[in-house]
Amino acid sequence: PQWQTSVIRSSTPSNPKGLRVLVTGAAGFVGSHVSVALKRRGDGVVGIDNFNRYYDPSLKRSRADLLSREGVFVVEGDINDSSLLKSLFKLVKFTHVMHLAAQAGVRYAMKNPSTYIHSNIAGFVNLLEACKSVNPQPAIVWASSSSVYGLNSKVPFSEKDRTDQPASLYAATKKAGEEIAHTYNHIYGLSITGLRFFTVYGPWGRPDMAYFFFTKDILKGKQIQIFEGAEHRSVARDFTYIDDIVKGCLGALDTAEKSTGNGGKKSGPAQLRVYNLGNTSPVPVGKLVSILEKLLKIHAKKKVMPMPRNGDVPFTHADISLAKKEIGYKPATDLEKGLNKFVTWYLDYYSTQSAKKDSSKPSAW
Ligand code: NAD
Repeated sequence: PQWQTSVIRSSTPSNPKGLRVLVTGAAGFVGSHVSVALKRRGDGVVGIDNFNRYYDPSLKRSRADLLSREGVFVVEGDINDSSLLKSLFKLVKFTHVMHLAAQAGVRYAMKNPSTYIHSNIAGFVNLLEACKSVNPQPAIVWASSSSVYGLNSKVPFSEKDRTDQPASLYAATKKAGEEIAHTYNHIYGLSITGLRFFTVYGPWGRPDMAYFFFTKDILKGKQIQIFEGAEHRSVARDFTYIDDIVKGCLGALDTAEKSTGNGGKKSGPAQLRVYNLGNTSPVPVGKLVSILEKLLKIHAKKKVMPMPRNGDVPFTHADISLAKKEIGYKPATDLEKGLNKFVTWYLDYYSTQSAKKDSSKPSAW
């Protein structure tokens, strides 16, 4: 069938030393950027995504269109579909799996808890089952989250810090993923690297994230709500630019060792790693808004409110020394520079959409 031919073509590296990577969540924000970066440096890449309706599916379709122009084929399917995964692993000897499919967002869990279990726990286990059953086993790099630090108030967050106080179901499923990774590494010798991303932003970003909907609402002249923590302390995030995150993902893939297989009995313990990927400079949300006002040249209508107990944590701040040392991670984009790129993309993407020019497909990545 045609899709199998497309999978094989897409998975073939143009560089003879290139990797063969299965990217889950490839039509998502981070997945689409990582897929393009891998393909452009000569790796073979196949994507999988279920194009769910958590946010505007047309944005996912636009990303997938651009991926297809770059030569990346995205299979439409769910990571819980064992027979689909089995056929993919039969068609291609993947050297690596970059697992970015998940139900993201913390507030959505209050009304839709089961989707977090389905994608972040059952889906992850299903994917690991597929990886463990093939020979050679691919090395796995997957997205955990800074949210595992939960209500921990010791900053900056280091990988050694406690992660036993998740503030949301989302965080709890990411923490569960880390425990599951431990088990599959221990029993089956799978090589697994978890990356704790800190608030990723940039072009082609997620409409459910604050920087994105603030931009939308400021442009529309709508009032925006800014939350403050206890004792009127500002809520702050360690905003990390997408290109920096992509470099961290590539660094993790390039330093991933092959799985030892066979329960880790062959050649010592298989690799099990966890890294923070942040920017090391938390910015109060009020400052984020003032940068957006400057870039958009519009004064925002703001309402400051106490933070509700809805799963968000008041503060995040990454210690990235481990990722720096072991995977060469070095974030290089400050918030104003990164937001400038986001705003430029946003204005271009949505003006093209509303004009319905060229069937609303922007031409550049
Ligand atoms: P995203 O929602 O844009 O991307 C996830 C993609 O996975 C979506 O396209 C979705 O359709 C797909 N997907 C979801 N469930 C699936 C399933 N069961 N089967 C197949 N596809 C499925 O989110 P993102 O911001 O690109 O996040 C990527 C990863 O990074 C996620 O694991 C997320 O939890 C994690 N993360 C993101 C951030 C951030 O700030 N963006 C921070 C921490 C962690």
